[in-house]
Amino acid sequence: MATLQLTQVAKRFDDTEVLKGIDLEVNDREFVVFVGPSGCGKSTLLRIIAGLESATSGDIVIDGERINEVGPADRGLAMVFQSYALYPHMTVEDNMGFSLRLAGVGKEQRRDKVREAARILQLEPLLDRKPKALSGGQRQRVAIGRAIVRNPSIFLFDEPLSNLDAALRVQMRIELARLHEELDATMIYVTHDQIEAMTMADKIVVLQAGEVEQVGSPMELYHHPRNRFVAGFIGSPK
Ligand code: ADP
Ligand code: MG
Repeated sequence: MATLQLTQVAKRFDDTEVLKGIDLEVNDREFVVFVGPSGCGKSTLLRIIAGLESATSGDIVIDGERINEVGPADRGLAMVFQSYALYPHMTVEDNMGFSLRLAGVGKEQRRDKVREAARILQLEPLLDRKPKALSGGQRQRVAIGRAIVRNPSIFLFDEPLSNLDAALRVQMRIELARLHEELDATMIYVTHDQIEAMTMADKIVVLQAGEVEQVGSPMELYHHPRNRFVAGFIGSPK
């Protein structure tokens, strides 16, 4: 069970207001996509939810508890980045188990968790390989595996597919949808790609210049865009 509420979340870097009072509700097991042009504040918002960046003001609440002061490791969430950042000298198995090792999880239990994640991601035959012997898509699956082993209640993805070619992106979208079903987790997914947003989301949050322009299902946004920006961005005829 994981819900998230943001209330008037703002972020200022020096003199620039990058987020201007974001209000948002994410329901349990929802697949929510943040979409918007480059520089609109998507990554900053995700990093604030993850605890990698602090909000200048506003409240971040998970399952009813204000977590502004809770450290990233204790928020019950895991983030998958665009750059996979795998350890080149470690095998797939060790890469996937590394955070568990840091957390003091024993070898047996680590192995079980990594094997389970590898099964879900169809990485079992590759566990002994080093990252350089993997394709781009396989590396991204290992990065997702590192998040899965931690059993997060909320997954945060920051443009995880943008380094992959078009065909692989289509395939990974399907895999992520399957993962969402299988893991029963809440997922927040950042992209600047409208097609990804339209095909993957239960709920789309359209951001522009640090503000929420509109929140709705793909069909709501497509048929009832609130303004020209949303219409243009989502690609509907208004
Ligand atoms: P997006 O992910 O939507 O492309 P970002 O959240 O990365 O956008 O950035 C939003 C704005 O905040 C940009 O103008 C960016 O230059 C600025 N920004 C992001 N991080 C920092 C930082 N650490 N210091 C100063 N400005 C930043
Ligand atoms: Mg970004």
